[in-house]
Amino acid sequence: MYKKLFIPGPTHVREEILQAQTAPMIGHRSKDYSDLQGEIRPKLQKLLYTGQPVFLFASSGTGLMEGSIRQAVRPGKRALVTACGAFSDRWYNIAVANGVPADRVDVEWGQGITPALVDEALSQGDYDAVTITFNETSTGVMNPLQEIAALVNRKYPDAVILVDAVSGMAGAKIEFDAWGLDVAFASTQKCFALPPGLAVAPVSERMLERAAQVPNRGYYFDFLNMLKYYQKDQTPATPAISLINALNRQLDDILAEGLENRWARHLEMAETVRTWARQYWALFPDERFLSNTVTTIKNTRGISVADLNKALGERGAMLSNGYGKQLKEKTFRIAHMGDLTVADITWLLGEIDDILGL
Ligand SMILES: *Cc1c(COP(=O)(O)O)cnc(C)c1O
Repeated sequence: MYKKLFIPGPTHVREEILQAQTAPMIGHRSKDYSDLQGEIRPKLQKLLYTGQPVFLFASSGTGLMEGSIRQAVRPGKRALVTACGAFSDRWYNIAVANGVPADRVDVEWGQGITPALVDEALSQGDYDAVTITFNETSTGVMNPLQEIAALVNRKYPDAVILVDAVSGMAGAKIEFDAWGLDVAFASTQKCFALPPGLAVAPVSERMLERAAQVPNRGYYFDFLNMLKYYQKDQTPATPAISLINALNRQLDDILAEGLENRWARHLEMAETVRTWARQYWALFPDERFLSNTVTTIKNTRGISVADLNKALGERGAMLSNGYGKQLKEKTFRIAHMGDLTVADITWLLGEIDDILGL
């Protein structure tokens, strides 16, 4: 049976978007392809409030964690990883796997990263980069990205700001230029509400200058090589053309909805889930850092989340258990991202109420 996805990726994909992928194939060195990428370029820049290049990679978001951290840190310098859950942990592991010297600053899961914490950590070393997970999907925490970036830009001009925006971009406002970010990236299966396989990444001029000072940038994600092709509305390797067609359609729909309306809809869905969660359960994250795109709920009633999900499956919906050993069955997550509506959320909560007799 078809299940509407209330999980934090892949999320629900509308029929029109699925259809947009079925356009006939075109050559990636053809004018048709350059026209397509050229059409998308200004729409992505609008979505991200940026005048800088927005690259498209045929990869999931994790690829950009690797690509960005290895191009940000010059020989002899270090990266600071801010960690508040499973996805920010991953970035530390990726730094280590790439031989990028990295330190980490951790907060307890459910807590957010504060500018003061980043300030203290950055003051201790010679840092070329700081990584921030905008929306930590494992815990349902949204970090105060704008405030952190303002602090870093004011006090640590050498540190480029790398942002994992995988589960936030296109669901919450990210003013890439005004906030002074250097790289932000997202996979399309989250708030973009497309199938997986494509990553979107605005990259600042400052980051491109930094990359030029890093000898081992890697190959696939090399931003300087990307830029060369971007200027011709192409990519160095074969792009995910079908997904890019879907992205083009989706960007039209996003801009037709209106960006402010889109952010407001995500917040309204979040508020709906929060109100319900406070009534029947408890919220897992600190109230100061609640995410607008996914809510992590404490299983205070001691139900079997797996059984709940099975029952929901028979009614055509799916939510997410808690992330990993630490949070599975102790929490569960309802994603409210992409093209889901407040009516979808209200329906889902009603089904849960009915199943559990709340
Ligand atoms: C989903 C997610 C990732 C991983 O993205 P992939 O597309 O699976 O590579 C990374 N970071 C965050 C915050 C996520 O939510």
